[in-house]
Amino acid sequence: MAIERTFSIVKPDATRRNLTGAINALIEKSGLRIVAQKRIHMTKAQAETFYGVHKARPFFGSLVAFMTSGPVVVQVLEGENAVAKYREVMGATNPANAAPGTIRKEFAESIEANSAHGSDSLENAAIEIAFFFSGLEIVG
Ligand code: ATP
Ligand code: MG
Repeated sequence: MAIERTFSIVKPDATRRNLTGAINALIEKSGLRIVAQKRIHMTKAQAETFYGVHKARPFFGSLVAFMTSGPVVVQVLEGENAVAKYREVMGATNPANAAPGTIRKEFAESIEANSAHGSDSLENAAIEIAFFFSGLEIVG
């Protein structure tokens, strides 16, 4: 297995409920390292670009409104098999289907307000990391 980097977002439902530290604890317990992190308030344009793949979905407008409804914490996570491992740590998109102990099972409010984002492939991870971070901000 290779050391990879993946991109993570602590979503607005989680920052609003002061859960950044609790989510970071689950990340670190899994062995992944947080090698970059910053708190931002996404603009509408950033959210529309970031979730552009879902533009045609009926929930797109609501998703963009949610992602810009409050601060988020964007992160770069590093470790063995980081992309797949973080998807496991997050759990299923719909918290009703997420396994016990996962971020979404423990913390998500709904299928939309589901507390965390994680890249779905190594290729998308590189694109998403470059969208939010400069190389200087990532300290492995
Ligand atoms: P993410 O991309 O945020 O890591 P994911 O890869 O598990 O989540 P996607 O299918 O990429 O899920 O959906 C992106 C996001 O859109 C979800 O995390 C959720 O916030 C929202 N979403 C997905 N499906 C729905 C839905 N049916 N209704 C409302 N919001 C949804
Ligand atoms: Mg996704």
